[in-house]
Amino acid sequence: MTDTKTPALSLEFFPPRDIAAQERLVRAAKQMLAMHPRYVSVTFGAGGSTREGTAGTVRIMRNLGVAAAPHLSCVGATREDLRGILRAYREEGVKQVVALRGDLPSGMGGDAGELRYARDLVAFIREETGDWFHIEVAAYPETHPQAESPSVDLDHFVDKVQAGADSAITQYFFNPDAYFDFVDRARAKGVTVPIVPGIMPITNHSQLVRFSQMCGAEIPRWIRMRLAEFGDDKASIRSFGVDVVSDLCRRLLDQGAPGLHFYTLNNADAPMAIWKNLDL
Ligand code: FAD
Repeated sequence: MTDTKTPALSLEFFPPRDIAAQERLVRAAKQMLAMHPRYVSVTFGAGGSTREGTAGTVRIMRNLGVAAAPHLSCVGATREDLRGILRAYREEGVKQVVALRGDLPSGMGGDAGELRYARDLVAFIREETGDWFHIEVAAYPETHPQAESPSVDLDHFVDKVQAGADSAITQYFFNPDAYFDFVDRARAKGVTVPIVPGIMPITNHSQLVRFSQMCGAEIPRWIRMRLAEFGDDKASIRSFGVDVVSDLCRRLLDQGAPGLHFYTLNNADAPMAIWKNLDL
C-alpha cells in the first residue's frame, strides 16, 4: 500500500565499471534501502556505451528487492536497437523507464540516430509497448543548456509529457525558487504529472563545478565561495554540503514537492545523512 503522506524517494545509480566497483555499489545500495526508495534508476551511456551495464545493474537492484528503472536514450540509436532493449526489459518484467535524448560523448561524432528528441522516444515507447512502462522524463528548472529560451524549452517539456510521460525528474538545482517557478509554469500549460526534484549532494567542489558547467545548473555565489574557502578540507565540504542540501530538501518538501530523486553517484554517505536530517 502506498502511504500518500510519505514523500516518494528515488535513488539514481550509474553502472559500475568493474567487479570491485560493483561490490561497492551493492554495499551502498543495501545501506540505502533503509531510505525505502519507491524505485532506483540506472543511467545509460548515450550511444549505447553502457547498454549491458545498465541492464545488468537493473537486474542486480531488482534482486535486492527494489523496483528499478533503466534510463534509455535515443541519440545514436536506431528504432531496431531501441525496440530490442525495450523487448528485453519487458521480458524481464521491468515496468518503468527514464526516457531521454542523451548527449553523445564528445569524439563519438557520427550518427545522431533515428529519433531526434526525448519526445520522439516517449512516443516510440508508447507506440511499441502501450501502457506497459511507467515513463519518466527529464525537466530543467534552470533551462536546458541548448534551449533557445526558457519558454521554448518549457514548450518542449510540455510536448514530451503530452507524448505519454507519466512523471518527470528535474536536473539538479540549488535554488528552490527555480523549481517552484518551473512547476507553476508547467501547471499553467496543463501539465499535471508529478515533477520530482533531482537532488545532487555536495561532496566534491571541483566535480560539482564540472558537472554544473556541463548541465547548466547554477551554483549560487555564496555556496561557491564557501566551497572555495574550504579548499581541500573534505570533512568541512561534506558537512557544509549535507547542511545546505538537507535545508534545500526540507524547503522543497515543505512547499509541496511530491518527492526527491537523489543523484547518489553510487555513494550512500551523503544521501543517507541528508535523509536522516529530514526525519521523514
Ligand atoms: P530533450 O527533452 O529532447 O531536450 C533536449 C533539447 O532539445 C532541449 O534544449 C529542448 O528544449 C530541445 N528540444 C526538444 N524538443 C525539440 C524540438 N521538437 N525542436 C527543437 N528543439 C527541441 N544523459 C545520458 O546520457 N544518460 C542518462 O542516463 C541520463 N540521465 C538523466 C536523468 C535526468 C533526471 C536528467 C535531468 C538528465 C539525464 N541525462 C542523461 C542528461 C540528458 O540526456 C541531457 O540533458 C540531454 O542533453 C537532454 O536530454 P532530454 O531527454 O532532456 O532531451
